[in-house]
Amino acid sequence: MKIIGVGRNYVNHAKELGNDVPKEPIIFLMPETALITRNLPFFYPDFSNEIHHELELVVKISRLGKNIPEKFAHRYYDEIGIGIDFTARDMQRQASAEGLPWTISKGFDGAAPIGNFVSKSELGDLNNICFSLEKNGQLVQQGNSGNMIFSFDAIIAYVSRFFTIKIGDLIFTGTPSGVGPVKIGDNLVAKIGDRELLNFNVK
Ligand code: ZN
Repeated sequence: MKIIGVGRNYVNHAKELGNDVPKEPIIFLMPETALITRNLPFFYPDFSNEIHHELELVVKISRLGKNIPEKFAHRYYDEIGIGIDFTARDMQRQASAEGLPWTISKGFDGAAPIGNFVSKSELGDLNNICFSLEKNGQLVQQGNSGNMIFSFDAIIAYVSRFFTIKIGDLIFTGTPSGVGPVKIGDNLVAKIGDRELLNFNVK
């Protein structure tokens, strides 16, 4: 399987990092080894001093497809979950300044913890999914899928022009504002609505 990330998909986050709002989705890939499941801890890596949390809704692909028209994209996923797109911001900043890829800063081992998934039918209106992140009991990020620049369906249509999507592939759909650093000892809890779907520690 593959993990696809979308950069700058919320206006308020693009602005907090001083970036322009994109005209097309900004896509990057992460390897399968970036995943953390079952609320296992995230081990702070030794190559960065600035790991940021980015709270994101995650789409789980349920059907093989290529060149999917946006109007049919909803048939290609049944569940949505939540995840953290951990980013080595110091390395990403350096790479961006040099015009180099984000691969290491986004895709290192453990960079993508994911929680349990929820069926679309349980979520109701997919354009009004509230989600949040607490760090040590304090609310640090809050988002709503209605504020995405590119919808789930638009992302799938765009991505599938270039990459065949397969069952089990995951798409991290971008972070709202409020990204910030984590440190060893932190506890992170991510929710969709009132559902606590992810709860893990930084070690
Ligand atoms: Zn992200």
